[in-house]
Parts: sequence; C-alpha cells; structure tokens
Amino acid sequence: MRLVVMKFGGTSVEDAAAIERTAKIVAGRVALGKSPVVVVSAMAKVTDALLAAAGAASRGDRIGALALSARLRCRHRDTAGALLRGDQLPKFQTWIDAEFDGLDEVLRGLAAIGELTPRISDLVVSHGERLSSRLVAAAFIERDIAAAHVDARDCIVTDDHYGKAIPQDDFIEERCRIHVVPHLHQGRVPVMGGFIGSTVKGITTTLGRGGSDFTGALIGGALDAEAIEIWTDVNGIMTTDPRICPDALRVKTISFEEAAELAYFGAKVLHPATILPAVKKNIPVQVLNSRNAENEGTRIISLAPHSNSPFKCIAAKRKLTIIDVVASRMLMSHGYLKAIFDVFDKHKCAVDMVSTSEVSVSLTVDSNEKLPAIAADLSALADVKYEGRKALICMVGENIRGQNGIAAQVFQAVRHVNVRMISQGASEINMSFMIEEDDVDEAVRSLHAAFFKDPDPEIFDVEARDAARAIMTQLEERVEL
Ligand code: ADP
Ligand code: ASP
Ligand code: MG
Repeated sequence: MRLVVMKFGGTSVEDAAAIERTAKIVAGRVALGKSPVVVVSAMAKVTDALLAAAGAASRGDRIGALALSARLRCRHRDTAGALLRGDQLPKFQTWIDAEFDGLDEVLRGLAAIGELTPRISDLVVSHGERLSSRLVAAAFIERDIAAAHVDARDCIVTDDHYGKAIPQDDFIEERCRIHVVPHLHQGRVPVMGGFIGSTVKGITTTLGRGGSDFTGALIGGALDAEAIEIWTDVNGIMTTDPRICPDALRVKTISFEEAAELAYFGAKVLHPATILPAVKKNIPVQVLNSRNAENEGTRIISLAPHSNSPFKCIAAKRKLTIIDVVASRMLMSHGYLKAIFDVFDKHKCAVDMVSTSEVSVSLTVDSNEKLPAIAADLSALADVKYEGRKALICMVGENIRGQNGIAAQVFQAVRHVNVRMISQGASEINMSFMIEEDDVDEAVRSLHAAFFKDPDPEIFDVEARDAARAIMTQLEERVEL
C-alpha cells in the first residue's frame, strides 16, 4: 500500500470552494494509486473564535460568547449547505446543531463559574477540528471519494498537559492499527481532525497552536507512510515569511535539521514538532500549496543538497520576553545556572536563548502568563528584570558551518537595528539574535536583500521570482502608457 498522509491547514478548508479544491487534490492522489490518510485543521480563524468565546464566557460575557458561537454555527451550516445535497444535508445540519448546542452549554457553564481551566479550554477549542473533519469527510463522500471519518481523539493519545499535550507514541501506533488501518484495507480514505487528542482516560486535549501539522506527522510515523504532505496557502517553505518580504523565494529542498530549526524559531509554515516523527522513520515531508497544487513545493529530506548560498531561510519569532538575572551575591558560586534553570523547569517554561557572563544571565521565553511567578522565584537568587515585545531573528543554513565572515555580513545588514542578544553554536546551522519587535520587518527585509541577491537556482525557485518580476514590469509599463 502506498500510504501518504495529507494534512490540510485552515485556509485549505476555509470555505466550500477550498474544500472542493481539497477534494480534487485527494481524488488526484487516489487516482495515482495512493492510499491517503487526510488530516484537517479547523476552518481558518475558527480556533481563534472558539478561544475568544471561551475567554468571553469566563469573563462573564455570556451574550458575547454565545454570539460568537452562533456565528460559527451559521458558517458551518452554510458551508455544509454549499457542499452537500439530498439526504446528507439535513442529517448533517442536525448534527452541527447538536454539536453547537453542546458547545453553548459549556459556554453558559463557563459564564456561570467565571473560570476557564486549560482542560475546558481544550474541550471548547476541539470543536473546530471535530466539525471541519466531519464536514470534509461528508464532502468527500458526496464527491465519490470513499471516505470514512475517524475521531482523532481515538488515535492521538496524549498526557494531560492541557493546551500543549505530549503524544504517547506507543499508544498511537496501536490506536491507528485499530481505528485507521481497517479503513485503508477496505479502500477508504480516513479523514480526521488535527490538533486534538485525548488522555488514556478519554479526556480531550490539544497539541498546541498550529498542532495539526504535528498530528499529520504522528499519523505518518505511526503508519510508516511513504510521505507526509503539508498542504497550506503558500508554495512551500520560503526563504522568509512572504507576508514580511514579498521577494521571498520558494526553497526547493531543505534538510530535516534546517526545517526543525526554522519551525522552532518562528516560521509558522510548520509546527516545530512536525519533523520529529518524520525523522524517526525517515519519512520525507513535503510542503505544498492547495491553491496551486501543480507547484512542486518544498521537500524536506534527511540530507539536503549542497548549495552556494550560506542560508536557506530567515525566521522571526515575535512576542518574546528577555529576562535578565544579575547575580552579584552569587558571584563565582557553582550550581548557580542549575538553580536558575530549576525555576524554569518548575514552571514548565521553555527557554529559547541564553547568554551568560560572569555576573549575569539573560534568557528569552515566549510565555507571558508565567512570568510574574518565575520572576518571583528567581528574585530569591538574584536581581531580576524582564522586558517584553522582543523578537528573535533566526538565520538557518547547513552551509554556515565553518564559513568565515558570515557573522560580519549578518550584522552589517542589520547595522541600523538594536541587537540585544546573540547566539551561534549548538546546532551549528543557525545564527540567532534578539531585537525589538518593531524592528522585525526592517531587519528581515535587509537580511533578505543581503543574502538572497544571487540565489542558487539548484536550491531556490528563482524562475518563479523572475516570472513575477517580469509581470510586474509589464504592468508598470502599461500603467505608464
Ligand atoms: P496552515 O493553516 O495551512 O497550517 P499557517 O498559517 O499555519 O498555515 O502557515 C502558513 C503561513 O506561514 C504562510 O501563509 C506564511 O505567511 C507563514 N510563513 C512564515 N514563515 C514562512 C516561511 N519561511 N515560508 C512559508 N511560509 C511562512
Ligand atoms: N486549528 C489549530 C490552530 O489554529 C491547529 C492548526 O490549525 O494546526 O492552532
Ligand atoms: Mg499551521
């Protein structure tokens, strides 16, 4: 069986037209003799709306929360109305109503209690993927794709770290054998929601924002798929976020290691944990555009080909905080760093970057709500200051290993920007530094202009950029005439 996991993000299922495109793409894979397993996100912006509804309810705004839910109910009903016919439609709309009635009950409960726990937040937010996956499965069946809906919570077993639950690999393989494999043997396309899971006791959890990519990779790993496809709204992994820099180029091939660094340090196109299950089983991952299915996208494989360009990509991660711990009292004492990291460990808070001197340690974190408690604990050890609205710029590329003069070029390109912390080392394939959040766009554009002036056509899609430039020139000429 030529099994391929196809994950479609929020924009690829955002409305009836997008779901139509998705159905065509999946039917195309079936026609090629492949056996797809489809993983879908919630329709675009639904997760944000559900979180907003839960937040409003818990602040006592029952009417506001129910209004948000009512809007989502209409959107799902309307999309179903545009996609389904005959008997399927009334049955499906009754099911949608029952789902939203259940959600509204939870929202009313939240408004009465006035408290939102991470566990209830996961329950509320899980509705997005529960709805989209049933809708997509029904739309596939209507279009003669033999599809079967699978509740992802039966397959993705996690711990109970609500909001960012950790998957339990051994259970997942066994659950996939029970809930997914029989459909494949009968020639059906299993369709499930990404992002959601459940504990062994059956309580709903989520894998963290953007987690549907992770689900796709987990399912691919569990089923030993021949490929994992991440379908999104851009042509693949680009040299930087095209929303910041319209000149960004598609990267044709990238290594697992490079992609993992990029995702971890802010490139939203891939959830940071996606690569791990793929690396474990050496399954190639492909990032593709559901609005431009003909494009080759980006292949992520174990060994990337050599390139003339030092960097493959520039990622930016915003909303970070720098914590400065200044320790005159503890000067020269050993065990000091351990004591600091114990505090972060106690609060289950991940640290992105660290830089140390004899008397001070600077760390960056992306969690705001835990900061006051962390600072209180740290102040028992030293003087503590923290400052938000910072961003991390991360330049990634296997070819910076052992190259002289790269750092000078990087900091020359951002000479007008105030750089707060610098890090290079560890993986040897990234160079990162912290700046003010407001400087991100300027820094990324300057770096992109400096390092992607003359990109290697073996690695980057230079033809597409040149074609786009030619069209722009023609348009400008026409406007001038
Ligand atoms: P999906 O809903 O399909 O998971 P996301 O919004 O999570 O899609 O990720 C796709 C978006 O990631 C793109 O629209 C793009 O703006 C952003 N992005 C950030 N960095 C990059 C990059 N290096 N390459 C491609 N896209 C990027
Ligand atoms: N729907 C979830 C989110 O918006 C998961 C995902 O789309 O990957 O974060
Ligand atoms: Mg995403």
